[in-house]
Amino acid sequence: MNEIDQKRLFNVVVNKNYSCSEGHIFPNTDLSFLIIVQPNSSIENALQDLYDEQNFDELWCQECGSLRKQARYVSSVEFPQYLIFYTPKNKRTNFSFPESLEIYGEAYSLYAIICHKQNILYGHYLAYVCLQGVWYKCDDSRVKKQAPDYKSAYLLFYQK
Ligand SMILES: [Zn+2]
Repeated sequence: MNEIDQKRLFNVVVNKNYSCSEGHIFPNTDLSFLIIVQPNSSIENALQDLYDEQNFDELWCQECGSLRKQARYVSSVEFPQYLIFYTPKNKRTNFSFPESLEIYGEAYSLYAIICHKQNILYGHYLAYVCLQGVWYKCDDSRVKKQAPDYKSAYLLFYQK
């Protein structure tokens, strides 16, 4: 797999512009492999957060040669074929995870979940995988049909 394939398959590409108070504009692109879902938030909010404008009181402007007030705005977001959401493990609260998402006319469906269960004594990873509409729980060597338990969901995989 070459770099372009990997970018198209897995990376969310966020194209931004930084604009200084004197009107100088600098484009910038961020690639992210995971979309973080903050505690008490949702996948929908995490997607919306990608478009958030940000304002900075002092940021270096290379054209001015000094610190300036700057605004960062998002010009476009390109979504990959596979979208991966991550929920911080120790901050996890109750999320709602839709089995399907629509992002600018593109339909994504949830096809795999990695869960992390833990108590004071141990932590354990297991996975749920959806094959032809049927969910399977994969727990070490044990695989059985079972609907996913979202409470301990840690990584969620959607595909176009
Ligand atoms: Zn400037």
